Amino acid sequence: MIPQELLKSTQKQVVVIGGGIIGLSTAYFLTQAGHQVALIEQHRNVAEVSTLGNSGMLATAATTPWAVNGMRKRIISGLFSQEASTILNARLSPSLWRWLLRWTSKPELQRYQLHMERMQRLASYSQEMLLQLQADHQLDFEQSSGLLQVFRTEKEFAATAPLQALMTERNVAHRVLDSASVQALEPALHTARSVAGGLYFPELASGNCTLFTKQLKSIAQASGVQFHFDMRVDAIDSHDNQVALRIGGDVLHADAVVVAAGTGSAPLLNNIGLKVPLRAVKTYTVTAAIKNYEVAPKLALQDDAYKVTMARLGERIRVAGIAELGARDTTIDDKALRTLLKVTQDWYPDAANYHNAQMWTGNIPMLADEVPLIGATSRSNVYVNVGHGGSGWSMALGAAKIVADQISGRSPEIDIDGLTLARYRR
Ligand SMILES: Cc1cc2nc3c(=O)[nH]c(=O)nc-3n(C[C@H](O)[C@H](O)[C@H](O)COP(=O)(O)OP(=O)(O)OC[C@H]3O[C@@H](n4cnc5c(N)ncnc54)[C@H](O)[C@@H]3O)c2cc1C
Repeated sequence: MIPQELLKSTQKQVVVIGGGIIGLSTAYFLTQAGHQVALIEQHRNVAEVSTLGNSGMLATAATTPWAVNGMRKRIISGLFSQEASTILNARLSPSLWRWLLRWTSKPELQRYQLHMERMQRLASYSQEMLLQLQADHQLDFEQSSGLLQVFRTEKEFAATAPLQALMTERNVAHRVLDSASVQALEPALHTARSVAGGLYFPELASGNCTLFTKQLKSIAQASGVQFHFDMRVDAIDSHDNQVALRIGGDVLHADAVVVAAGTGSAPLLNNIGLKVPLRAVKTYTVTAAIKNYEVAPKLALQDDAYKVTMARLGERIRVAGIAELGARDTTIDDKALRTLLKVTQDWYPDAANYHNAQMWTGNIPMLADEVPLIGATSRSNVYVNVGHGGSGWSMALGAAKIVADQISGRSPEIDIDGLTLARYRR
């Protein structure tokens, strides 16, 4: 048993900035480690920004970067078509152009694999943390198992060969399916649409990320995390042994701070001289009530050609995708809407009443290499947990545990090479 005096001496007052899935997970593990935790969120509740739009894939071992091989070609061809997975907004600034070039640079397989390995290392660790969390708290977040990736053409399907080899090497449970097997596995798929083949991941889950985050809030609250809503951190100052947070006209002192403020993290970090290539990438979702259960998806589906996902959230279907660059407003782009509706019409046309669907658009916090940045920074007692991109839920618990371990003076349980700020200093 750990002596009480030792617990007291290692216990810290830690502030977490941000009430999305990343901030919540961080606060949870910090309180589990015995720290006094305050979470500050500018909105009235948790899960109000990126986390709210989450499409529901807990993709863990199949987590891959969005920017695949040939991304630039995909973006350019999207400019001239009615539907596209990536939209370039006319207001693209020079700095965003530079980010875009970096995001789509080095399309070699080796580079893609490097980023994928880092993301999967973190996602697999998150999966372990999720199993533990489930065993301790029996969360119910409308979860179900099985993810089906479909490919429209033989060319697209053939291009997955190196990915399949990597999955096999990493012991990721998956099955390679021909067209008939895809149909047999998911009979609700619309037969008029031809499918070249698919990859099936039986162990991957999907669910409702907002519900999950709110349940984590209740658990964290019961464990002593103090939540402060409607409060915005304007700036961070780092001193020798303490940090000071400027909030309106007030200053709050703490032993450590974790910046987990999603797209709001960049200005806070910039302010203390930490420049990170973090961008807000606008995305979209359509959520519709199921009307015909017999033709509704049983498995979560990912359409590789459009990078669009469809998942069951209880009695609803959520369709999500599109990366729009250069826009931060909440207007619905016609091309984005057309693309999402096309994918629903192609695969599950009669499952839901899509024209009465709820539309949502918001921003994903994304780094140019899509690998999150976690852990200590060069500023004393300032930690980051940012830039989880399009797979943030899948990596959240592992990233949070690593940050909590570092703040507690413990070594992380997994190799964190490539996941920290050190990768920008090489
Ligand atoms: C459409 C869509 C689909 C997605 N699908 C998936 C998926 O299927 N699987 C998956 O794993 N991931 C998915 N993601 C990604 C995942 O949801 C995100 O990576 C994740 O939600 C990011 O969480 P976050 O906590 O970093 O950011 P956020 O949820 O944005 O939270 C950050 C919080 O910080 C607050 N904040 C910012 N600045 C300040 C400040 N100065 N003071 C106080 N508070 C501040 C904000 O108000 C916000 O609440 C999806 C995302 C989107 C948008």
